[in-house]
Amino acid sequence: MGRKVRNQILTAVTIESAASDGKGVARWNNQVVFVEGVAPGDVVDVRVIRKKRQYMEAIAEQVVQPSKIRTDPFCDHFGVCGGCKWQHLKYKNQLELKRQLVVDSLQRIGGLTFPEVQQTLASPQTQYHRNKLEFTFSNRRWLSHQEISSGMELGRNGVGFHKPRQFDKIVDVHHCYLQPDPSNQIRNSIREYALKHELGFFDIRKKQGFLRNLIIRNTEKGELMVILQVGHDDPWLPRLMDHLQKQFPEITSLQYVINDKGNETFFDLPVRLHSGSNFITDNMGDLRFRIGPKSFYQTNGPQAHEMYKLVRELAALNGQQVIYDLYSGTGTITLFLASSARQVVGIELVPEAIEDARINAEINQVGNANFYTGDTKDIIGETIIKRHGKPDVVVTDPPRSGMHRDVVEKLMDINPERIIYVSCNPATQARDIGLMAEHYEIRSVHPVDMFPHTPHVECVILLELRK
Ligand code: SAH
Repeated sequence: MGRKVRNQILTAVTIESAASDGKGVARWNNQVVFVEGVAPGDVVDVRVIRKKRQYMEAIAEQVVQPSKIRTDPFCDHFGVCGGCKWQHLKYKNQLELKRQLVVDSLQRIGGLTFPEVQQTLASPQTQYHRNKLEFTFSNRRWLSHQEISSGMELGRNGVGFHKPRQFDKIVDVHHCYLQPDPSNQIRNSIREYALKHELGFFDIRKKQGFLRNLIIRNTEKGELMVILQVGHDDPWLPRLMDHLQKQFPEITSLQYVINDKGNETFFDLPVRLHSGSNFITDNMGDLRFRIGPKSFYQTNGPQAHEMYKLVRELAALNGQQVIYDLYSGTGTITLFLASSARQVVGIELVPEAIEDARINAEINQVGNANFYTGDTKDIIGETIIKRHGKPDVVVTDPPRSGMHRDVVEKLMDINPERIIYVSCNPATQARDIGLMAEHYEIRSVHPVDMFPHTPHVECVILLELRK
């Protein structure tokens, strides 16, 4: 592609809609243009940064006429940090855009027919709504133009979120609106301590350094888990841990991981307890859930509760049915449905999550739940059907990649009356339902907003066996 095309300016482009990654979508000479940092309804001059056969990518140079759905972002890090891309859009419009993303996926990817998609269920809270955040330490924090042009000697150590498209740069976060107190205080306090004692911040390119990653999880009644990942053991580790526990007595679970691997995931590494308990417990309605350091748990608790209620309603239970909950995590949906079912079966890949699920069944005195560890595609089949009976209802809540094709095929063999498909990725959800369309009919579609100010949308779809 020639330079001329790359820097071409397109003037007075109208942004028509939003794409699934949050970018604005416009049309120019019958070609689709994806534009970053705009709002649907804006009229903007844009600069083309990439030109492909099918589409162009561009960035906004100047907003000629701002969209009516714009609002002022509340966070100082907006526009730099990749976290809340839609903070400049009014919340009610975010909800409508999410609904539209679901409609688009079902139509374009699934080629499906379906009843009118419901309004997106709004999140009860739109700030401080997350119960888990993960921060990264880096010795090469991102610098603003202002900092660079100040000519001052600048420290480069920072802790925060990855700068989009610059894998080794970290936006040094001072206040984040996603998680309630004392999340900000804890992160800032570790930074302060580390700078004062000249502790090493991780070098993401060389993959070495002491402070690496920080995970903070909280529950609604105020339990707090902090997990610090370090690149190697060091005499400073117990000192830093003691310091944290002293400064924040509200931390109920303080843990650490020594991780010298190439990546930050620690599913395959031991998590060590420094002080407190090795888990936290969250309440959801009458149920209590135990959450360990490796367990998946929905990050927007109150909204997850609303979503589970919706799933229960759609399952239309009468106490007699057998329910399979695929990709069950710590068994939240499984246990939520148990009291209205004859039997529930949860299937989940991560053994630690299943351990928690079994404990959760016990502490909630649920006697009709069974859990299996393994890949859904290997577990679902004749053996468990012989043992527990054919499911009347299947709830499936796979990761972003959707269901394995074998799982879809097995579901078609088993033919449950209802399938409730919960998904955090409308594209793979539409693909999978497309494969089932011959046998199943879409009865209702319910987008749910778990992640305010981001383009992410959770979607619950009720499928019924065609008669
Ligand atoms: N329904 C749960 C968890 C959903 S998240 C809840 O609402 O809390 C998706 C879950 O699928 C994760 O716990 C993940 O560990 C699990 N998972 C991912 N791939 C899997 C597979 N192939 N088989 C079974 N479980 C899998």
